[in-house]
Amino acid sequence: MSDRIRIRVLDAVRAGRGEATKKSIENATGLACATVCKTVDSLLADRTIFARREAPSGRGRPALPLALNLDSALFAGLDLGGESWRILFTDLGFNRLYYRKIATPPYTGKEAFFRHLFAFIRSSLAESRLDAAKLRLIGLAVSANADPDTGVVVSAGNMGIRWGANLPVRAEVEREFGVPACVITTQAAAAWAEYKFGTAAGTGDLVTVGLGVGIGAAIIAQHQLIVSRPDRPAGYIGHLYIPGNRELCVCGYRGCLEAFAGARSLAAIARRRHENDPAYPLWQNAAAIDLAAAAGDRRAIALLNRAAACDAVGIAGLIQMYQPDALIFSGGQSREEGYLYNAVLRRLKRLVPEDRRRGMKIAITTLGDAQSALGVIRLAYEKFF
Ligand SMILES: [Zn+2]
Repeated sequence: MSDRIRIRVLDAVRAGRGEATKKSIENATGLACATVCKTVDSLLADRTIFARREAPSGRGRPALPLALNLDSALFAGLDLGGESWRILFTDLGFNRLYYRKIATPPYTGKEAFFRHLFAFIRSSLAESRLDAAKLRLIGLAVSANADPDTGVVVSAGNMGIRWGANLPVRAEVEREFGVPACVITTQAAAAWAEYKFGTAAGTGDLVTVGLGVGIGAAIIAQHQLIVSRPDRPAGYIGHLYIPGNRELCVCGYRGCLEAFAGARSLAAIARRRHENDPAYPLWQNAAAIDLAAAAGDRRAIALLNRAAACDAVGIAGLIQMYQPDALIFSGGQSREEGYLYNAVLRRLKRLVPEDRRRGMKIAITTLGDAQSALGVIRLAYEKFF
């Protein structure tokens, strides 16, 4: 419990933007004066925060404004997906210090996986010129069936990691870097990032939807993040069965939503349908198909309308079940002007009764590419800092 208090006090200091006082922390956290004093003193002692300056002397004791010692800690967050691996370093205030993205290395086995992963972290640390000695924790968001308790990645279809691979990601990263690590699904990390830092921050009932190689979602219900587990997946709309869909999914089943609407699936279907037809372009990826649809190409439009219909079925189900106040999109297929994104919104209007949509904020994330990396940093921080 004391750890939670420490995080609450630190959050209040951060929110104070250099002007926090023990009194303002008491008001913000609802903690008792003695608890705040004790926690502030311990944070001052380990230099996590500092008293900014002497306030001008007036009546009574001067209130010393408290501020975070931003450089006192370095946090690392990774987002390992089917298309790319991303890494983010932040300071204690979650300010972005360094960000890098690489193409996902092909999966050729456990040892090579960890070799790539360690090299990615090490080379990023070196390139960032940040002080590795200040590294306090590593959060890993993985587009996978990941066990948050053990930190084991059971499988990751979009990375070619089959069920039962059981990569002990947390244990290996902790052993290699000597700091605590945690592992969670990319979607859960995305939702926590939105809840803490996004355009709908603090919204207690919030759903995030990732439209990318995979189609996924995560749920915050009554301020609680619903954490996905391999045997208890939450928000996995990408693997809902869509009647009439015969496409084979990375999960091994046929007819899954993302086996049609996932970015890679779309490109493969387009290639299969049109590669022998010289009259039509060979669309290399989902982004090219989206541009073609926006430009009025009827075949691209047909493909994306079908994909949007699939996506909307999954998303409408989440809206019906959780009645979120905010629905935040992310992923490569979520673009403000994009054909698919707008087709999904149109479909949702048709599928979800008006009274269930009223007041619901719908937006694309403002956190950009680093959304899940930031979210998992925050989760690791709440766990370990
Ligand atoms: Zn599937």
